[in-house]
Amino acid sequence: MDPLIADVAIDCPGKDCYSYRVPEDLAERLAVGDCVEVSFARRPMRGFVVELARRAPPEGFALKDIIRHREGVRVPAKLLQLIRWGARYYRCSLGEFLAGSVPAPVREGVVPEERLVITKVAAFAGKLTARQRQVVDALPAGESLLLADASELAKADRPLFERLAKAGAIVIARDREVREIRLEARDERHALTAEQRTAVDAVAQPLAAGVHQTFLLYGITGSGKTLVYLELAAQAIALGKQVLLLLPEIALTPQLAARVRRRFERVAVWHSGFTDGERAHMWREAAAGRFDLVVGTRSALFAPLPNPGLVIVDEEHEQSYKQESVPRYHARDLAIVYGGLVGAPVILGSATPSLETVHNARAGRYKVITLMDRPLGGKLPSPVLIDMREECHAQKRQAHVSRELITRLRQIKSRGEQAIVLLNRRGWSPVVSCTECGHALSCPNCDISLTYHKGPGKLRCHYCGGERSMPKTCPACQQPTLATFGLGTEQLVSALAYEVPELKILRVDADTVAERQGHAKLFQAFAEGAADCLVGTQMVAKGLDFPRVTLVGVLCADRALSVPDFRAAERTYQLVAQVSGRAGRGERPGTVVVQAYDTEAPPIRCALDHRPKAFVDAELALRKEYGYPPYAGLVRFLWSSESQADVQLVAQEHGARLASAAKGEAILGPNPAGLAFLKGQHRWHALVKASSRGAAQSFLDRLEAAGGLPKMKKVHVVIDVDPYVTS
Ligand code: ADP
Ligand code: ZN
Repeated sequence: MDPLIADVAIDCPGKDCYSYRVPEDLAERLAVGDCVEVSFARRPMRGFVVELARRAPPEGFALKDIIRHREGVRVPAKLLQLIRWGARYYRCSLGEFLAGSVPAPVREGVVPEERLVITKVAAFAGKLTARQRQVVDALPAGESLLLADASELAKADRPLFERLAKAGAIVIARDREVREIRLEARDERHALTAEQRTAVDAVAQPLAAGVHQTFLLYGITGSGKTLVYLELAAQAIALGKQVLLLLPEIALTPQLAARVRRRFERVAVWHSGFTDGERAHMWREAAAGRFDLVVGTRSALFAPLPNPGLVIVDEEHEQSYKQESVPRYHARDLAIVYGGLVGAPVILGSATPSLETVHNARAGRYKVITLMDRPLGGKLPSPVLIDMREECHAQKRQAHVSRELITRLRQIKSRGEQAIVLLNRRGWSPVVSCTECGHALSCPNCDISLTYHKGPGKLRCHYCGGERSMPKTCPACQQPTLATFGLGTEQLVSALAYEVPELKILRVDADTVAERQGHAKLFQAFAEGAADCLVGTQMVAKGLDFPRVTLVGVLCADRALSVPDFRAAERTYQLVAQVSGRAGRGERPGTVVVQAYDTEAPPIRCALDHRPKAFVDAELALRKEYGYPPYAGLVRFLWSSESQADVQLVAQEHGARLASAAKGEAILGPNPAGLAFLKGQHRWHALVKASSRGAAQSFLDRLEAAGGLPKMKKVHVVIDVDPYVTS
């Protein structure tokens, strides 16, 4: 009999898999999708079995045996198929994609940590020593405690508790409950509005039939998309299937998880903010079919569900669905592929859908369902646009905050309402330079100016994270003439506190939420009224729902427009439209104050006047004219090296290969990247523009067939399919 040979995908670039012999005692148990340990390049490595068959071993070559089988870790077949598709499309190895989609603690066999929980037995009437009685009396009745907490409370050690358990006075149980922040949610068993009913009915049919179809749920902010999701989720669960609900941002999960949990019991929250043990535990539970619904960020798409029946991608336009490290997948795009593989409807929800999605919908590939009313009757907020050039003139200084916004902030305080002020820049000031010689302080590892953080008194690079103290004198001319320029959230809080001293302000940005799940605590505090005003970066712009917020301020709304990126206008439009949607979600009307220097910019105008079609039509026309998505398929190549000479040489050599693989595709570059020096690396890039995504794939196929891009020492190459970052 031929030996059983397993093809194993290993986490390294290059080949998809390598063959190993399966020891006969394993042959019975091993299956495709299983995690195994093998020896690779003389090191033990983890991998996944992707092919399994009895066949003749290769001649003149001794196959190594599989060393170990990781019991209980099996990637479901459809998920493996999706991962295969993703590895091919995004051009990484199957092993790299698996490593990027099955959490490390699962692959490494981390055993879920168990905690012991102690509960007092109420009806216990047995005999105890005085000491034991003392301990039992110290425990609360009708409540379970962690062993550690009980020990502290009752000043007793574990053996004592074990004796008490033996005597029947307490019960010790194992608890693997995952610790997460749980918020309270209002009860939302509202009757569906007519619009919501129509939306639910449209998806219900393919859902029941197990047929894939993609829907764009296009609903203005506050139109009740979540209720549509929950209703359809209930139907999928009733069919015995599981539901995936993807969110763009970890900060949004507690709020939505609370709403989901009011309705369903077997719910998992899935993101990277958990401990290794917790993640390993959840993965196994999901694979065992213990969850009806998984809600989480992009990686939740790879939760090992046995029978997914509905996939929902909320805020589908968000860029955070694109992963910026290997595997560089886009979770929304993969969700649609997954829906096709498992026969499930996919819902893309947004108030500001991406241009790609709008284009697909107009082409008839997606079915559009719209929600145009707010069930609570709230009106979309009335916008006030402030021209900051005029404002500075009127205030006779470099003003950051308009008088209009200040006046309104004073009013919300007196009315007991709340406000959100958005500024997409953290720290005190983004620029520190010398007023004598003009020297600007920049990061020694990056071509980036350093941001001053006043609290810790440090200069920080927002790219590499490098940090140094603020010098007393200018490093160039040695004069004590360094000054800060520009506004960050830290300084904004201080400016607002000066203008409206009675206002309680909470700042939410990467600096204030460093702690695990810290944002959830801050948002919770805000929801409970711990502050009147939330100041933050883009984190506060997304899907949050605070009914008492009636005022939203956006500072420097046009700043992103100056970024050299073909999506700059789209992002600006989405930001302004989304953040406006945070006001007036309850019964009280809302106001949005938008500050900009270029008040005529179409994305800002269209967002404020609620004219999505005007924006989309104009922007699509531009994309078409200049050949950008959705009218093109892009692939970006990025070369980086410590040596400027090496990176240039290799980029040019590889560039010649790109050119010879091209059949009419335009190739921009290779040339130095917009950020030409980052984290000590010199960077070159090239952008390939094909006529469609399919054409871009054909180009990559031809490139591979011609030998690909040969590895060069000391130069790292990144291939980014459908890139979002292009600088
Ligand atoms: P979206 O996600 O579309 O921005 P939400 O789902 O957060 O909107 O809904 C906005 C508000 O409207 C929420 O407070 C929600 O409870 C409420 N709501 C949604 N649907 C209904 C309904 N059918 N009847 C009453 N209130 C509703
Ligand atoms: Zn740096």
